[in-house]
Amino acid sequence: MPLVGVLALQGDFREHGRTLTRLGAEVREVRLPTDLAGLDAIVIPGGESTTIGKLAVRFELLEPLRRLIEGGLPTYGTCAGLIFLSVALTEGDQPLLGVLDVVVQRNAFGRQNESFEASLDIEGLGAPFHGVFIRAPWVSKVGSAVEVLATVDEHPVMVRQHNILGTSFHPELTGDDRIHQMLIDSIPAE
Ligand code: GLN
Repeated sequence: MPLVGVLALQGDFREHGRTLTRLGAEVREVRLPTDLAGLDAIVIPGGESTTIGKLAVRFELLEPLRRLIEGGLPTYGTCAGLIFLSVALTEGDQPLLGVLDVVVQRNAFGRQNESFEASLDIEGLGAPFHGVFIRAPWVSKVGSAVEVLATVDEHPVMVRQHNILGTSFHPELTGDDRIHQMLIDSIPAE
């Protein structure tokens, strides 16, 4: 049974935990650097990326988490989690892990579209995925190692770079576990 960490500083980490448990993973909420030991994968939830970043600095998680992800730990960030993984934002200054080579625009869909749902065709996933977007970012620039797996109006909303997966939307709120399954399937066999 894989041991999957869920960064539990702020945001909807409980919903991710429930999804991962349903898929047969052992789940550990991560709040301190010692919680990172022995993980097979990690999820960074949605929430408020400025708060997640500040708390990660305060609890001295930024450096050890960055090292693990750079070392190949399978990682999945949703929404604020995607923002936190990125190397840069189109505006503002907040702590970032800087491991996923994308520039992200926060709250990108604008006030008219604060929250919306869209049917997404995701590369390699088969049937369309019901995407739930809540004050969601989009990816405005991707580095050469980054694959775009889904778009909305030509804006990337799902990306992958080797061991790192990011979505602007929230599969943990839909009951469709296929993207979390992708993360689990990416854990190397021992
Ligand atoms: N708007 C939030 C942010 O910028 C992200 C929203 C979410 O995670 N649902 O951090």
